[in-house]
Amino acid sequence: MTRTIFEKGLDGRSGKYIQENDCPVDEALLPIQRISSLGLPRIGEQGVIRHYMELASKNYHIDKGIYPLGSCTMKYNPVVNEEIARDNAFCGIHPAQNEADVQGALELIFNLQEDLCEICGMDSFSLQPAAGAHGELTGMMIARDYFRDRGEDRKIVIVPDSAHGTNPSSVSICGFKPITIKSDDRGMISPSDLKEEVNSETAVIMLTLPNTLGLFERNIGEIIEIAHDAGALVYMDGANMNALLGIVQPGKIGFDIMHLNLHKTFSTPHGGGGPGSGPVGVRKHLSDFLPVPRVVKNGDKFAFSWESEKSIGKVHSYFGNFNVFVKAYAYICRLGSEGLRDVSRNAIINANYLMKLVGKFYDVEYPGPCMHEFVASSVNLKKYGVSTLDVAKRLLDYGVHAPTVYFPLIVKEALMIEPVETEKKETLDRFVEIMKKISEEAASNPDLLHEAPISTPVRRLDEASAARNPDFRWREME
Ligand SMILES: *Cc1c(COP(=O)(O)O)cnc(C)c1O
Repeated sequence: MTRTIFEKGLDGRSGKYIQENDCPVDEALLPIQRISSLGLPRIGEQGVIRHYMELASKNYHIDKGIYPLGSCTMKYNPVVNEEIARDNAFCGIHPAQNEADVQGALELIFNLQEDLCEICGMDSFSLQPAAGAHGELTGMMIARDYFRDRGEDRKIVIVPDSAHGTNPSSVSICGFKPITIKSDDRGMISPSDLKEEVNSETAVIMLTLPNTLGLFERNIGEIIEIAHDAGALVYMDGANMNALLGIVQPGKIGFDIMHLNLHKTFSTPHGGGGPGSGPVGVRKHLSDFLPVPRVVKNGDKFAFSWESEKSIGKVHSYFGNFNVFVKAYAYICRLGSEGLRDVSRNAIINANYLMKLVGKFYDVEYPGPCMHEFVASSVNLKKYGVSTLDVAKRLLDYGVHAPTVYFPLIVKEALMIEPVETEKKETLDRFVEIMKKISEEAASNPDLLHEAPISTPVRRLDEASAARNPDFRWREME
């Protein structure tokens, strides 16, 4: 049984090396004295290490096993990039330092901007936004100011029902009105449906690509043409660019604005609240609207440029989350263009391999071919009274993290599965084996699945109150 670090403590214990001084004390020489206890745990140094090792071993994490959390791209992020980001040359500098003293850091920001432009086929990038949703909001602000500058009053943003949930909220927060367009029976946008919605009030068509069904929009050329013919902009939510690296350059196929999630695609582990980074890239006609300051190169010197009357302004203090840039840049340099393309190739191959095999035991409403992820469903287990939540909880008993569940909303009992590029065949095969076993258990012993998880440190939690009234103390379960 695990006790809290406070319960493990004993009076008189502490982790300090320097012991009490046994010379006579003149209290007058010690003008500052604590008059009440800080309430710190009374535990020795080794006790602290053991406590946290015990907690870490109870936790599930990417270093323990597959983490098939669709849309969230929980993949292996090379530890060497953490080491590089922690180098004192990077983390020992202050963003308010003089430009001349931080040329290396500015060069890194500049080079990363350039690399992202090349990867995405865009003309300029801002690294300021701190997350994907923040990038979306920045992109919407750019679109708003672009139309304001042209004297056009466009209020509508069209968002397919297969878009990420943050898209319509970013649209609303920026003051646009989101209009949902339904995807067709193949999980794609139909150009003829789109044509009916698009008019002179349409500001932006905002696409998640690949969409949340893990599908690449087959009619993307036509969709972009419809938008541009109506004078609208096309936005790409590129949070899951790990499906498209070296394969599709969104700017080259006509997207006007996009964002990336460096903390999904470019080697920053995430979950637990960041830090993240959601850079926004635009094509030339929108470059002037990007946030300032921008990092520019003058001769062989790097500098901040505030010159842009049309800029939407600042969206983050200083220049964004620099340590995430360092990891992304290290990752890009190490892989090069072929390595990046292999990331996406492997992500796609893994997802399609898994989809075929999982599809033998679960429904797959949109059988693809998929990109980096796919959406299965346990609707076929309904006849045994077994739900997706039961399947997800039972996976924990087999030592596997559950996929994203009940999203996207357009698939009933959804299991959104993303194996990511770094998993090997034997890991995927084991996952399939477990999914198969659970589908058999659903038929033979559905009560077992309602009870699951059985072997985890805690059983089925009331998830809402766990978030609202967190209680970190251990309790033995009956
Ligand atoms: C994760 C994700 C987002 C949101 O990114 P945050 O960094 O969590 O704000 C947006 N769109 C898609 C497609 C995503 O997968």
